[in-house]
Amino acid sequence: MGKVIGIDLGTTYSCVAVVEDGQPKVIPNKGGYKTTPSVVAFEEGGRRLVGQLAKRQMVTNPKNTIYATKRLIGRKFDSPEVKKALASYPYEIFEGPHSDVRVRAGGQEFSLPEIGAMVLQEMRRVAEEYLGEPVKEAVVTVPAYFNDGQRQGTKDAGRIAGLDVLRIINEPTAAALAYGYGKKLDETVAIYDLGGGTFDISVLEISEGVFEVISTAGDTYLGGDDFDDRIIDYLAESFQQNEGVNLRRDKMALQRLKDAAEKAKIELSSALQTEINLPFIAMSDKGPLHLNLSLTRQKLEELTADLVERTLSICTKTLEAAGLTKEDIDEVILVGGQTRMPRVQEVVQKFFNRPPRKGVHPDEVVAVGAAIQGHALSAAAGAGGEERAEDLLLLDVTPMGLGIATFGGFFTRVIERNTTIPTHASHIFTTAADNQASVKIHVLQGESDRAADNELLGEFMLTGIRPAKRGEPEVEVTFDIDSDGIVSVSAKDLDTGQEQSITVTASSGLTDQEVQWMVDASKNYEVELKSRSEVEKACNRLEGLLLQVERELHARDKGLEKSLVQEAQSLLKKARQAIEFGDLQEIKKYTHQVPDLIKRIGAGG
Ligand code: ADP
Ligand code: MG
Repeated sequence: MGKVIGIDLGTTYSCVAVVEDGQPKVIPNKGGYKTTPSVVAFEEGGRRLVGQLAKRQMVTNPKNTIYATKRLIGRKFDSPEVKKALASYPYEIFEGPHSDVRVRAGGQEFSLPEIGAMVLQEMRRVAEEYLGEPVKEAVVTVPAYFNDGQRQGTKDAGRIAGLDVLRIINEPTAAALAYGYGKKLDETVAIYDLGGGTFDISVLEISEGVFEVISTAGDTYLGGDDFDDRIIDYLAESFQQNEGVNLRRDKMALQRLKDAAEKAKIELSSALQTEINLPFIAMSDKGPLHLNLSLTRQKLEELTADLVERTLSICTKTLEAAGLTKEDIDEVILVGGQTRMPRVQEVVQKFFNRPPRKGVHPDEVVAVGAAIQGHALSAAAGAGGEERAEDLLLLDVTPMGLGIATFGGFFTRVIERNTTIPTHASHIFTTAADNQASVKIHVLQGESDRAADNELLGEFMLTGIRPAKRGEPEVEVTFDIDSDGIVSVSAKDLDTGQEQSITVTASSGLTDQEVQWMVDASKNYEVELKSRSEVEKACNRLEGLLLQVERELHARDKGLEKSLVQEAQSLLKKARQAIEFGDLQEIKKYTHQVPDLIKRIGAGG
């Protein structure tokens, strides 16, 4: 059995780790960085760039650079979050066949799980290069507050990437695992995770290798990107006031603003003031315009105060749900790059009345925890013969209630939030009319008592109910939430004991067949990539030989027969043409011919 890697698939940055000789290790990418931007870009001709290379060309290629798709994965196209993205993202977003979200770039269309798969594949490559062996299995993390659709989308991304995703685990839980692994602890900890796109807070009890989540809550649209947006708004408004030009209209200018906003924000975590200079950001009748503004830490704190405040009200809610007070928390652990902001650290410290734990790397712990869980799962599978991972038991919860829509537009909970997973619960349905043959069930997830305010996971049709008087047939529907937090539904006719068939008619996810197509498309791209690099190698080899021909010709200069010189020159020309066209067969042919020619030139003809 090969190694199981842990991947933190972040909104803005991703990270991969593995356990080696019992020690978790974060794997750096080729550039030496331990995190890789979750950015995918498309060049003309369909060539893909992922990670640092993609992020670097973002400003010059805004329309074909896809980022922050984690904010949209598993969401319905008509949701407010997607509307917000439509207004502010420079790349094209459109509605897919299941009211899902799709993107268009480089002349191609992609579902969001496909974009996620490209980032996962990159992280897998990073791991494979380091380990020097193929990797097939992974544990992938998601925000704790992700719902079923978002988890399903992430799982699909794994499948499309050709990975066997052994488990989806929650990011704060992974961080707790990284914090407590191998230590003899008996503590109640709060994990405050503010990353690029999402906020989560989880309260766990850790004792003797058992990690039990007591409660969790979050906001899947609250993170560092929103802090950047506040700075962008501030810059754009100031510019409009001073120069009368709306920078938001220009995609490239907007991308430069975004870039500068994030840089300024990060700088203000260590400095008290920073200058933002964007020369030639726009044109006016009077000539080019430049943006020069200074931003203080205090101004940034003012611009983002309500965002920070929102995280605290979620913390309050989570403690209440856990039945705990702030005094019951032994340690507070900060996770996510945005917690590097001094203001965030201050308010968290004030809220919990204790300094947050130091020594936990905020943007690496999640991947480390995923790797630990992967290691434990592979050891538990037991096939490897490697020593067993330290006994480790992870008990996570479902972040929101699961239930059905009932008469009058109400939401009836079947499973309460913060229930330990895996779990299942049943509900008995009957018919409302005589001889009714089918019943429609709306399955929802959320916290509101009104059905319409919750997320619709799917419409399930119970069909083939036996003819009977109304209220007589009894169909038991069972809702399962597995260890990944993913929901499935099954039904049984209680009179006959027969499984009842269920069909899903609405879901924002991909169908099984679509995922299969995408798996194939992704494999084809891998093959194409490999053959491309084969062509590149062949070109290099031939070019080397052609240079040698030129050198020999030059050295012998006048002593050669004219016909041989002509032959050499014609071959040089044709071979370079073959290189230009990337014609592998022709390249091979010339590579074969050249050594003989070199020999003849060397012999003087
Ligand atoms: P995710 O996993 O959601 O991609 P990360 O945990 O990697 O997020 O955090 C990324 C976010 O943290 C980005 O918004 C980034 O700008 C922000 N960030 C990184 N370093 C700092 C810093 N020193 N000060 C403030 N914010 C930071
Ligand atoms: Mg993260």
